Amino acid sequence: WKNAPPNLRAIAMVGRMHGDREFTVYEDERVTYDAWFRAVATLAHEFQARGVKKGDRVAVAMRNLPEWPVAFFAAVTIGAICVPLNAWWTGPELAYGLANSGTKLLVCDEERWERVSENRADCPDLETVFVTRAEGSLSGAEALESVIGKPMEYASLPSRDLPEVEIAPEDDATIFYTSGTTGKPKGALGTHRNLCTNILSSGYNAACAVLRRGEEIPEPTPKVGLTVIPLFHVTACSAGLMGNVAAGNTLIFMHKWDPVKAFQIIEREKVNSTGGVPTIAWQLIEHPERKNYDLSSIEAIAYGGAPSAPELVRKIREVFGALPGNGWGMTETMATVTGHSSEDYLNRPDSCGPPVAVADLKIMNEDGTQEMPTGEVGELWARGPMVVKGYWHNPEATEATFIDGWVRTGDLARLDDEGFCYIVDRAKDMVIRGGENIYSSEVENVLYDHPAVTDAALIGLPHTQLGEEPAAVVHLAPGTSATEAELQQWVADRLAKFKVPVRIVFTKDTLPRNANGKILKKDLLSMF
Ligand code: ATP
Ligand code: MG
Repeated sequence: WKNAPPNLRAIAMVGRMHGDREFTVYEDERVTYDAWFRAVATLAHEFQARGVKKGDRVAVAMRNLPEWPVAFFAAVTIGAICVPLNAWWTGPELAYGLANSGTKLLVCDEERWERVSENRADCPDLETVFVTRAEGSLSGAEALESVIGKPMEYASLPSRDLPEVEIAPEDDATIFYTSGTTGKPKGALGTHRNLCTNILSSGYNAACAVLRRGEEIPEPTPKVGLTVIPLFHVTACSAGLMGNVAAGNTLIFMHKWDPVKAFQIIEREKVNSTGGVPTIAWQLIEHPERKNYDLSSIEAIAYGGAPSAPELVRKIREVFGALPGNGWGMTETMATVTGHSSEDYLNRPDSCGPPVAVADLKIMNEDGTQEMPTGEVGELWARGPMVVKGYWHNPEATEATFIDGWVRTGDLARLDDEGFCYIVDRAKDMVIRGGENIYSSEVENVLYDHPAVTDAALIGLPHTQLGEEPAAVVHLAPGTSATEAELQQWVADRLAKFKVPVRIVFTKDTLPRNANGKILKKDLLSMF
């Protein structure tokens, strides 16, 4: 491991070797790997000059800008712990992340700075703030451009090495916050090894999938990816950013998600892969303007992070002729634990794949004392080098979630006899009607199969005798119609009677989702 240790410093150094290849493209700004590395090294030295030491927290809070991978690598390559903060968060939420992580130095964009500066009193450890793309005044902060210039100027920075810092694979590297779908976001403390695992296992997995299909291993060629999910989510960072830096691929960032802009970029830049979360894939498929663009360069559309309807797999193949892919993971596993694509996925469209080679899965009973027989639903537990040590400064949650190297995922799932995993619900979302379990995904997928339905969520309504009753919120495709009774009948024709939603509410908008594409079920109850 001396020359190729699993740490993010090594990944940065591999990135540097890609030289003049384009790394990031954002609107009309293009940054090569060489230029990016110059900015990383310059900023890393500046961080050190500002007193950032190994183990100190450095936060990044911005949109997907070329500055994001600069600030991230400048922090982790000197052994600081990078804290990517959710750019969707409000001022108080950002202050929570900064205070909870004890962040000393923050790199952010102007929008985030406006929010943080109003709450700075709640961030007692924050000493230094660098703001990028600021147009207003910066009282209490400094311009990032004063250290590294604008992205288009990175190429003229001096070429220098990273500061000398010894980093072991088990050293802390990142604190990513969970999405907060089921409670307050928790900081998952990841090591360098955790964050490298995805790259180490994905190459192996891709090779094994080729072997299984009896194809030949393709020549590695640099690819162009359209990154539409935020880098502050661990999937975009570990599966997206890290793997692409290692391979020398080009990443295109968008100011804001917009399907038509995505079509324009795909056509212009000959993008090979995109996706991220199921909603993005749906929007690309369903947008009426899709047909006006040449999207033939797309080879793969993969996603994860949220449940997806089985129908999506067939649609991707049909519409794009591309390889559909699905993977399961959570912040606590630094992204991918299961994954599959191509024929495997087409044949099992309701599965999120088998575990990657270095992961183990098991299905446990509710109180975690017994393993369930193959095929039965229980709580999914996962183990492997991608599982984090625990939550930052939260010993109770750590103790309850991380047991003997396993992480209790809080997801209900089953495994088939070939080891493929099927997520059926979150334990907290499962509706229990008079003792009968109703898994959201089963009912939602039946609703999705209805030609008029494009979005659906199942939730439980409180009921005095039964405890809970299933109810659904659906969104219909423009120009289509369906009544409540019609949809209830549609479900009744396909599932047991107790699973039929007792009420179905229609919404004009698509369902509320967080930045990771997950439906905010907590917010739906007020619609009834
Ligand atoms: P919190 O833990 O704060 O409530 P969260 O669990 O939504 O938030 P993340 O770590 O971003 O935070 O999400 C992990 C969860 O996302 C998994 O536990 C699972 O419920 C869901 N998920 C991820 N990938 C898939 C997938 N391929 N299919 C279905 N669900 C998925
Ligand atoms: Mg979670």
